[in-house]
Amino acid sequence: MTEKRVALVTGSTSGIGLSIASKFAAMGYDVAINSFEAEADVADALSALTGYGASVRYFQADLSLSGGGYDLVGDVVSAFGQLDVLVNNAGIQKVAPIEDLPPADWDRIVAVSLDSAFHTIRAALPGMTGRGWGRIINVASAHGLRASPFKSAYVATKHGVVGLTKAVALEAAEKGVTVNAICPGYVWTPLVAAQIADQARVHGMSEEQVVREVMLAPQPTRQFVQPEEIAALAAYLCGDMARSITGSAISIDGGWTAK
Ligand code: NAD
Repeated sequence: MTEKRVALVTGSTSGIGLSIASKFAAMGYDVAINSFEAEADVADALSALTGYGASVRYFQADLSLSGGGYDLVGDVVSAFGQLDVLVNNAGIQKVAPIEDLPPADWDRIVAVSLDSAFHTIRAALPGMTGRGWGRIINVASAHGLRASPFKSAYVATKHGVVGLTKAVALEAAEKGVTVNAICPGYVWTPLVAAQIADQARVHGMSEEQVVREVMLAPQPTRQFVQPEEIAALAAYLCGDMARSITGSAISIDGGWTAK
């Protein structure tokens, strides 16, 4: 890499986001990490990332707040001088039949995953197009391409993220900025571990059955995707050899959406 790159990964103190941030730090990027977490998790994430010798800074921002993503990008640009790579990764989940899904949970899920991506992209894109280079990666889901029961807000949000990705890709296509969605199947992270009990309740199954019959059954490989696999794909999308990949929803789901 000849030029310095600055990357922001939202929701990056754990799981997939932390893995992507680690990959970027290992590639020599300056990295902005973000979350809305307890301080202990932030300290752990920062110490994991500083091991690479990259410049890493933490930005607390609640992306459920309208405009939170817009302000976050402003803070990152103030601190690092520019933003070249934006990964919209923050996301939350709620497993419930739609009639039992509190409207506040619907609002929060849409706000954290979809609205925040609108706000961060709106803030970040002008700088990228002005410099003629940028990468926007939205972490959607296999649920951006397929539905499952009891996940109405999550499925609607992730389909929205895929649509947002395509629209912005077309707007940025001639300006050196690519915009893609990564669509993972089940990845073993705190978000997945936290939903096992809810899945067991709504499906009337044991937790072991949930892992086997709900999570791994749709994935023909019958294994969880690892966060490092998502990070490697994000890194590839940031390379110059990926300049023609834009507006894509890239599956990394053990064959789930091939069916
Ligand atoms: P995770 O729970 O480990 O991480 C989610 C991150 O989002 C955390 O850092 C959390 O602090 C952050 N976050 C949550 N609410 C926030 C808020 N209001 N403001 C700022 N940050 C907030 O989850 P994960 O499994 O690593 O998921 C990361 C992304 O990948 C999500 O968008 C998720 O939908 C998507 N995804 C996950 C899987 C999977 O199986 N784990 C599959 C497909 C897609």
